[in-house]
Amino acid sequence: MTGVVHIVGAGLAGLSCAVRLTDEGRHVALYEAARMAGGRCRSYHDASLGLTIDNGNHLLLSGNAAARDYARRIGAGDALVGPEVCVFDFLDLRDGARWRLRPNASRLPWWVLFADRRVPGTGPGDYLDAGRLLFARDGATIGETMRCEGVLWEKLWRPVLLSALNTEPAESAATLAGAVLRETLAAGGAACRPLVAQKGLGAAFVEPALQTLAAKGVTPRFGARLRELVFADGRVASLRFGDEEVPLGPADSVVFAAPAWSALETIPGLTAPNDHRAILNVHFRVAPPPGQPLLLGLVGGLSEWLFAFEDRLSVTISGADRLMDAPRETLAAQIWTEASAAAGLDCRGAASGLACVPPPWQIVKEKRATFAATPAQNARRPDAVTDWSNLFLAGDWTATGLPATIEGTIRSGYRAAELAGRGAESPVRPS
Ligand SMILES: Cc1cc2nc3c(=O)[nH]c(=O)nc-3n(C[C@H](O)[C@H](O)[C@H](O)COP(=O)(O)OP(=O)(O)OC[C@H]3O[C@@H](n4cnc5c(N)ncnc54)[C@H](O)[C@@H]3O)c2cc1C
Repeated sequence: MTGVVHIVGAGLAGLSCAVRLTDEGRHVALYEAARMAGGRCRSYHDASLGLTIDNGNHLLLSGNAAARDYARRIGAGDALVGPEVCVFDFLDLRDGARWRLRPNASRLPWWVLFADRRVPGTGPGDYLDAGRLLFARDGATIGETMRCEGVLWEKLWRPVLLSALNTEPAESAATLAGAVLRETLAAGGAACRPLVAQKGLGAAFVEPALQTLAAKGVTPRFGARLRELVFADGRVASLRFGDEEVPLGPADSVVFAAPAWSALETIPGLTAPNDHRAILNVHFRVAPPPGQPLLLGLVGGLSEWLFAFEDRLSVTISGADRLMDAPRETLAAQIWTEASAAAGLDCRGAASGLACVPPPWQIVKEKRATFAATPAQNARRPDAVTDWSNLFLAGDWTATGLPATIEGTIRSGYRAAELAGRGAESPVRPS
């Protein structure tokens, strides 16, 4: 196969697919509807803050093998930083209790035997219940699989699963939670070290990829929104971008790496997730105090995770659909009250019984951050191979077996690269 692989979408699925293919010497053309690459994982300059911020804080774990491979391939292996060992700091906003979760590195989870390594108020036996997720039946929710109440649920499983699935955990697919658990905590603390793109998502995942591709002669065409795939004889014959039509040669293929909603509009007969969940991030322009952990889990309040970047503190709230219409000023004040308490910073206004006055802030709402990780939506995820012989799918919404995460996204990009690269023949669609 010597044809061109046309990749639609320059989010991480499209970029990872392009990087993989160009590493193998394949010809690639990359089309992106927006004016920049990165999609739902991007950095940009926010004029009101005078800072470069991310659309949302992203957490990876050391067990995310494909994500780390991608970072290495684009020369950004050092851009993901985190503690040397698996450690997660938590704070209960209601009573100020702090604890550190410290799983040991190996697979044998002896850490649960030590009170100072586990969640306060829990015993070793409490941790066994989550093991049921590893053997969950297809179609079952987490609520049907394990106990969704008690101290351990409230202080560990619910916050961790909510951030991994971005959907109320009790109603989420147990198989997706099991897949995350299998590759991280159940694989030992060595696979569970938190990793954060401290200099921003753009510097870790996007700009180095664009440079790597440019060095191989590939520059995305920005502002190129695919309007239509033209099919003939069981394959894609051309791509339509507004007035322009790009014909495909006999050896050419297409990787569709745009989001599910775009796929549903463009690919006839496709079944794909059609229900999404929001994520809300608030960035505060304030230097973190010395000793502030890179990542702090918060329970008992509105805020869920507090990230400490060099020039800002930043709060993430998952499954945030209920907050999409809330007044921004009220949200910022409430979240800053929690964040400043968590970071031990002064909260101007609190002494007079008023809400805190936050430092300069910006709220970023991503309404369709991820597909809803329910069994019903998970069942709608299509395979990368389609009914058309030269059309392949990539993206976090395809059937990766993982929730909508960077790890799943990059695996999907790699898989599509393998399929398109070897010119895998999909079954020809019956006419
Ligand atoms: C706020 C937020 C926080 C997150 N937190 C985490 C986290 O902590 N850890 C984690 O692992 N994951 C996290 N995720 C999930 C992760 O960001 C996504 O799974 C991943 O970025 C999806 O990449 P993608 O390439 O599949 O899709 P996208 O990023 O959506 O990329 C698709 C691209 O296609 C383009 N496009 C759309 N339609 C067309 C068209 N018709 N023609 C051409 N181009 C088109 C879009 O502009 C976009 O650039 C988070 C997501 C969000 C939004």
